[in-house]
Amino acid sequence: MKFFSTGRRSSTVDFKEATIKGQAPDKGLYFPEVIPVLDNEFIRKIESLPNEEIAFRVIRPYVEEVMPEEKLVQIISETINFPIPLVPVTETIFSLELFQGPTLAFKDVGARFMSRCLGYFMKGYDKKVTVLVATSGDTGGAVANGFYETEGVEVIILYPSGKVSPVQEKQLTTLGGNIHALEVKGTFDDCQQMVKKAFADEEINKKRFLTSANSINVARWLPQQFYYFFAYKQWPYKKDPPVISVPSGNFGNICAGILAQKSGLPVRHFIAACNANDVVSDYLLSGVFKSKDAVATLSNAMDVGNPSNFVRILEIFHHHFPDLKAQLSSFAVSDEATLAAIGEVYASHDYLMDPHGAVGYVSLQKYFTGHPSEKGIFLETAHPVKFPRAVENATGRETEIPSALAELMKKEKKSILIDNDFDQLKEYLLY
Ligand SMILES: *Cc1c(COP(=O)(O)O)cnc(C)c1O
Repeated sequence: MKFFSTGRRSSTVDFKEATIKGQAPDKGLYFPEVIPVLDNEFIRKIESLPNEEIAFRVIRPYVEEVMPEEKLVQIISETINFPIPLVPVTETIFSLELFQGPTLAFKDVGARFMSRCLGYFMKGYDKKVTVLVATSGDTGGAVANGFYETEGVEVIILYPSGKVSPVQEKQLTTLGGNIHALEVKGTFDDCQQMVKKAFADEEINKKRFLTSANSINVARWLPQQFYYFFAYKQWPYKKDPPVISVPSGNFGNICAGILAQKSGLPVRHFIAACNANDVVSDYLLSGVFKSKDAVATLSNAMDVGNPSNFVRILEIFHHHFPDLKAQLSSFAVSDEATLAAIGEVYASHDYLMDPHGAVGYVSLQKYFTGHPSEKGIFLETAHPVKFPRAVENATGRETEIPSALAELMKKEKKSILIDNDFDQLKEYLLY
């Protein structure tokens, strides 16, 4: 498989080069030249297949030229070594629990897959690679955990000071070793801008071999398709495909789901569930894409004003707005509605949601108002214990901290505080 750049001015590359580069030289995102189509038999038999086999069939077309089968099998089994259950919440709404990995966030899947690919690809080089990544909360932890002690890889994480939860902060500042945390006095969008600038900076690139572990990297983006197939495997109404609601920030996750659908996965409709950062719901109404400054919300991992993967969604639909609009809806959910849903679902259905999953739940309900006979899934993208204050506010219940997390909270935070100033990042990277 070859990948082209959505900027259309860089040459095509294979999966290995796309993984190492992260972003294309023309600043576009890599996108597969062909979307593979899985045979019907595979979908029909999905219930009888082990998750490893499903994942293998889904990802192999993208990587086969650059990785032997045994290596791919090994990477897959290390990537998905935790449960991903589909849990009924009401008769028509199910939660896909993506939070049972080591950092309690769905990003574990992509980060674990990518770190192992990059470790494998870097074996042939004598130079170290620096993974430079901006996080709105969960990316940092998942990337730190996934890449910790990976040979040949240094990781530098930028996060907005005071805008990630205490658990999230500990996850990305306490490992040490090859993991370095920069605490930026600014927003997530500021961090993302600084990272983008660093990638474009000649001096930095001379000194360091930079790559990205944000969902713009194909090795993080593509494996996120796996769990959409696992969801369908567990879906009880096979003849009646689910509406899938995805709590969205940079739109990598939902874009992977739409890609899975194009590859043959039965999905009725997709919902981009957003908080007050409603760029895409505006776009679907007006047809005009206009980025905005991010605003802070309870679902902080989705506080994104200029979603980087949206261009890939446009690409999937060949920039044809009516097709896109037919497949995708989007809702903006307020913090008040998010908290109310957490409280109500806990009281009525004894199910505890985190603020991100709750945005997905509310969006699904909003969609059902106009489509009362449909059934659906929302992606529970983070464990509720990562957001104890919101969950306690909403339910009146104290969250129990798992012992692994309690241990983590005792560890010492190590970060370097910098201003929202590119020169300070540059100095750090050059020293
Ligand atoms: C990153 C994240 C999201 C948003 O995912 P995107 O792929 O950026 O759209 C949603 N929920 C949680 C908990 C996250 O960490």
